[in-house]
This record gives sequence, structure tokens and C-alpha cells, in this order.
Amino acid sequence: MALASFKNTIIRNLVSKPKTRKVEKEYPVGTRGHVENDMDVCVLCGLCSIKCPTHAITVDKVAKTWSIRPMSCIQCRCCVDNCPKKCLSMGLRFQEPGSEKVTKTFKQSEKAIAAQEALMKAAKERAAAAAAAKAAQAAQAGNAPAPAAPAPQKAPEKTEE
Ligand code: SF4
Ligand code: SF4
Repeated sequence: MALASFKNTIIRNLVSKPKTRKVEKEYPVGTRGHVENDMDVCVLCGLCSIKCPTHAITVDKVAKTWSIRPMSCIQCRCCVDNCPKKCLSMGLRFQEPGSEKVTKTFKQSEKAIAAQEALMKAAKERAAAAAAAKAAQAAQAGNAPAPAAPAPQKAPEKTEE
């Protein structure tokens, strides 16, 4: 009797659908995904790190790296919404599960470093040009007396009664 029941169970399990779902390779619509950074565009300004409520992001301007601890990220999108360069996004791709708290570090690309250096050089040149123009204006003004500084106000004297 017990053997017949056991056989029935085996046959039923062989023909029935599995009780588990297949691992999905894509996030279902509506999920938030995980943070991805386009290091060709990132200028390492550090705003994402400041805005992150869980301190999951670290920016090292000297080493030119951007790091994230995925297990600390709560997928709030705050960094994505505040990035001035719009290089952060919520990637909707499957990630391998893991049991260790890893830190993922990405180095700024040569392209981004070159672009940033060019921007800084241009800013320095603009500042130097502005300073030169100001100096020339001052020289043109020649001996014109500088506007008198307002006289310091005298503190009211104390009167003793
Ligand atoms: S990802 Fe955006 S906010 Fe974060 S350091 Fe790079 S440019 Fe700045
Ligand atoms: S999504 Fe939210 S928690 Fe995750 S890194 Fe960005 S700001 Fe931090």
C-alpha cells in the first residue's frame, strides 16, 4: 500500500510543473535595478557620494576612482537624480548573487581625465585673462584717486550719571 502511494507521488512529480521559478536574467518592469556609472563621463565631483543616504559611494579624487558597495545601496536613485553629468543610471541587468560585502571600484577613464584637464586649463586661462583685463583697466585709470573708504563710525560715548 505504502509502495503504491510512493509510486503515485513519483509519477505525479514527474508530470507536474516545477514549484520553483526560473532565475530571471532581466529585472521585471518596475524594479529599480542597481547603480552603474559611465566612467567616460564622470568628473569625480563627489556629489553622488554626498547625497547617498547610506554612504555606499566613495569618490577618491587623487586616485581618480569611484567606488560603490552594492550591499549598502538601497536603490533610492538619489545619486542618479543628483549627478550633474548624468553619468549614473539604474542598470536593469542581472547580477550574480554574492555573500560577501564587496566594494566595486572603477577608475576614471583616460578620456574623462583628458576632458577634465582641458576644462581646468580653459578655466585657468579665462581667470588669467580676466585678471589681465582688470589690471589693464586699473592702469588705464592711471592716477585717478581711488574712492575714499567710508570713515569708521565712532562708538557712542558712555555717559555716567
Ligand atoms: S557620478 Fe556624477 S555625481 Fe558622482 S562623482 Fe561622477 S559626475 Fe559627480
Ligand atoms: S541608489 Fe541611493 S543608496 Fe544606492 S548608491 Fe545611489 S544614493 Fe546611495
